[in-house]
Amino acid sequence: MDVADAQIGQLRAKDEVGIRCQKLFQDFLEEFKEEGEIKYIKPAADLELPDRCTLEVSFDDVEKYNQNLATTIIEEYYRYYDVHMLQVYFNLIYPYLCQSVLNFIKDRVGLKADKECYVSFTEVPTRHKVRDLITSKIGTLIRISGQVVRTHPVHPELVLGTFMCLDCQTEIRNVEQQFKFTNPSICRNPVCSNRRRFMLNVEKSLFVDFQKVRIQETQSELPRGCIPRSVEIILRSEIVETVQAGDRYDFTGTLIVVPDVGVLNMPGAKADHGSRHKPGEAPEGLTGLKALAKAGVRATLNARTSILAAANPVNGRYDRSKSLQQNIQLSAPIMSRFDLFFVLVDECNEVVDYAIARKIVDLHSNIEDAIERVYSREEVLRYVTFARQFKPFISPEASKLLVENYGHLRQRDTGTAGRSTWRITVRQLESMIRLSEAMAKLECMNEVQERHVREAFRLLNKSIIRIEQPDIHLEEEEDEAFAGDIEMREISGEDNQENSDLNQQEQGGQKKKLTLSFEDYKNLSTMLVLHMRNEEARCETEGSDTGMKRSDVITWYLEQVADQIESEDELISRKTLIEKVLDRLIYHDQLIIPLKTTELRQPGKSPRSTTEEEEEEDPLLVVHPNYIIE
Ligand SMILES: [Zn+2]
Repeated sequence: MDVADAQIGQLRAKDEVGIRCQKLFQDFLEEFKEEGEIKYIKPAADLELPDRCTLEVSFDDVEKYNQNLATTIIEEYYRYYDVHMLQVYFNLIYPYLCQSVLNFIKDRVGLKADKECYVSFTEVPTRHKVRDLITSKIGTLIRISGQVVRTHPVHPELVLGTFMCLDCQTEIRNVEQQFKFTNPSICRNPVCSNRRRFMLNVEKSLFVDFQKVRIQETQSELPRGCIPRSVEIILRSEIVETVQAGDRYDFTGTLIVVPDVGVLNMPGAKADHGSRHKPGEAPEGLTGLKALAKAGVRATLNARTSILAAANPVNGRYDRSKSLQQNIQLSAPIMSRFDLFFVLVDECNEVVDYAIARKIVDLHSNIEDAIERVYSREEVLRYVTFARQFKPFISPEASKLLVENYGHLRQRDTGTAGRSTWRITVRQLESMIRLSEAMAKLECMNEVQERHVREAFRLLNKSIIRIEQPDIHLEEEEDEAFAGDIEMREISGEDNQENSDLNQQEQGGQKKKLTLSFEDYKNLSTMLVLHMRNEEARCETEGSDTGMKRSDVITWYLEQVADQIESEDELISRKTLIEKVLDRLIYHDQLIIPLKTTELRQPGKSPRSTTEEEEEEDPLLVVHPNYIIE
């Protein structure tokens, strides 16, 4: 019997279910009669025509002929099984069914030449909506309906590749392509161990027409208040160019989730799932990913997938006392698949709130004018497509820097032991490489250079910090106030007896970059606030002006840390640090209030001799009266 072994590839287990289905389906084709005639003889004969290769079969007929066969076709149409840890076996019966068609044509019609034949089913009983496409449907034969909202151009798609080994010139035929360009895994020549250097022989490879279309739920089937979902459908062979945008169609085929941003991050998925999202349950897209990993498609994911995902905190509000992982309750293994994390906290901020409100109002009042676009969507897409063609290699300098930076991350990781559930592992090194390559691609370069690595490190560094208690970047606060920076409003007074960890931060301060860990910032601010409150109380009992001048606060602080300061440079960096912290407490946290001149001139007090300008630079500072030190 001419079974489909060759097509399935020698790696796969010989599949009894498939062979049985092939036999039964061939029997069906040969025996199924309608009005006394064998129904599929004539349609099969048409496949002799050079541009025809797909036999349409009514699923209804299959059901009438053999219910078991029908059920197996539905359930096992294109399903994968991860049988062993290392080896993925496929139990897909589709190629067996196609083989039945070919055998049938050869036997009954007398087709001479070998050609690729396909089967397509019509009248599949249950019709699904776009919204019903859940992971359990992956690999099964389904029929879905929707309105075509977009059609893409037709491309040739490589189905079976013939490759030449560049080391020994051996030809390797019929390499099945799995959702991406797939090289042979190893050269067929037993004495050649080449796994990477192959060249595709276009002449000897098999291509089919391929077209992507996007369908969307229609208004009538849309649940109230929901945004329409859409899904991409791939049309192959004869059916390309048969649908038109705007029309509604039924599509029958297999749901294969090849994750991309469009599919996994379905627009609106959050909008109507957010409230029902249970703690401990991964967001929709990730559930899909996990199922996919189980289904054994894992191997094809890395190369072509970018996943952009958003997650809401499990309890509705982001709890700063907890880690990011606790807030979104995703497992560490899932989280480790992502390169970068950024936390956006919705804080009340007059300026930002106003800007957002303004933007939204503008958008509604005059759409054309409100959107400032430098590049159109099409231009951006074209650029991304082009940039993706580049396969940059890592220059020796960049490679050295990658290793160094990884070392830095590892070191810092051990320094914060106990505080973090996040470990820097080889995965972060991989992330850094990926990000560096992406930076090079963005610049359409064939080489990853040091600056690409530096930017990747910066992003990664920032992202990893944010997963835990975010550090305070004193230098960049103007920029960051608008970039979703996490503010530290709830500064608590615990651990205020000791200021010893200022030593740690001092080392950082030396390197010009003014970054404080959350703890250090908290301790420092508590120290200042306690002292200022004491001073205020003392002034009140003495009846003098309330508050301390800014310069007095700074001088007092420097006196407190005098024994830790050994050089003039250190003194200067300490002074800069305390100034920045004060500014942040005043303008960012609004925990300390600078008093204006007019408020100082109380009756019975002598006017100050300083000029207004000087007061502006060195105002009196008081702690916000409502602020409670814990
Ligand atoms: Zn070879």
